[in-house]
Amino acid sequence: MAVREITYCGEPVLRRKARRVHEIDDDLVRLVDDMRDTMGPAAGMGLAAPQVGVSLAVTTVWMDTEGDEVAALINPKIVKREGEEESFEGCLSLPTLRGIATRPTSVVIEAVNLDGEEIVIEAEGILAHCLAHEIDHLRGKLFIDLVDPDTLVWMRPDERKESGYRFDPTTLAEATEAFTRLIESKRQREQS
Ligand code: ZN
Repeated sequence: MAVREITYCGEPVLRRKARRVHEIDDDLVRLVDDMRDTMGPAAGMGLAAPQVGVSLAVTTVWMDTEGDEVAALINPKIVKREGEEESFEGCLSLPTLRGIATRPTSVVIEAVNLDGEEIVIEAEGILAHCLAHEIDHLRGKLFIDLVDPDTLVWMRPDERKESGYRFDPTTLAEATEAFTRLIESKRQREQS
């Protein structure tokens, strides 16, 4: 098991449609293990394989708020969505950026688990938003594609605030530029 490097907004793999999984083999089990490790310390609610540079239709999601169950969903798809509500979102591939997107209030997901069994998940609220967010990743979509641009903020630690964070308004252009710089510094690290 290992923590893999996160891909950032601007890297082509995040904009590609992920390939369907046809076989659950050792490589896939290792990928899921690594994704679980990677999302742990990074405190994300979910992770999609393209976020660790693998263009496969696999996502791992915290299924409860206690965070002790991480489900692996293979070839997940939304078969039913209902309602619309605001969702204050972030993404490990767009670090510290937050914004309000519109998501379904409830979803029904069909997927396959690591044992190859077909599973159905009914979810509402934050879990529904999270599942929709992760499944979007598998279609090359990011939350900034859905976000109300007027709500984009950098969420930065700030001890002076009661919440421990401050929210600095930003724009899509500024954010895109920041992530381009992040990718450049990642490349430089890899080369040195
Ligand atoms: Zn994401």
